[in-house]
Amino acid sequence: MSENKHTSHVAIAIDGPAASGKSTVARRLAQRLGLIMINTGAMYRAIAWTTIQKHVDAADARAVIAMLGGVEITCGVNDGGSTILIDGVDPGDALREDPVNARVSKVAAIPEVRDLLVAKQRDYLALGSLVMEGRDIGSVVFPDTPYKIYIDASEEVRLARRSAEGLADVVSQRDAEDSKRKTSPLIVADGATVIDSSDMDIDQVVEVALDTLQSQGLKI
Ligand code: C5P
Repeated sequence: MSENKHTSHVAIAIDGPAASGKSTVARRLAQRLGLIMINTGAMYRAIAWTTIQKHVDAADARAVIAMLGGVEITCGVNDGGSTILIDGVDPGDALREDPVNARVSKVAAIPEVRDLLVAKQRDYLALGSLVMEGRDIGSVVFPDTPYKIYIDASEEVRLARRSAEGLADVVSQRDAEDSKRKTSPLIVADGATVIDSSDMDIDQVVEVALDTLQSQGLKI
């Protein structure tokens, strides 16, 4: 079951577009399997939030890279889930608000931002077996893990899910930016199983995901 030469810990990669339900599924899988849950979107969101605090243009790669040199990013785990502090501050709910939604795909397209965060994401494996959700977990962060799921849903369903949460997110625009960027675009990773959740409720998706992981060799 080991997929990392340094530890016997395993990584389960959950990727997919915005509002596909992957965070909820990843959280539920982590609870069911007793694993740590790592939300990598929050890490990119924290960088976008920092550009707002520091009045840096998120589309200006050089300025964002310079900004990163001057902030301390602390990634940890609390209560089974990932946490992130910027210079000791937890951005909290601000991470899910519009100003961050509008900037996050821009900072996520900067290769230096990705290098920094991917290294921190890989470091998490030292803490234990984990479920990690994002866009490039199966393709870039843990390409060697056998446990890879890509959760999809139609655009219509994804927009409806976001508005049901009371959030006006620029889902389509983020997906377009995430899919067309040069570095680590959103793709179905080699070896990943696609689950289309458009017509399923969350319990069904979790069950299908557990079956899929078992068929990928996970001992449950
Ligand atoms: O998952 P969430 O929607 O919170 O992610 C926010 C944004 O962070 C995505 O739209 C994408 O630009 C970026 N992201 C990424 N790679 C990841 C996770 C998130 O580029 N692994």
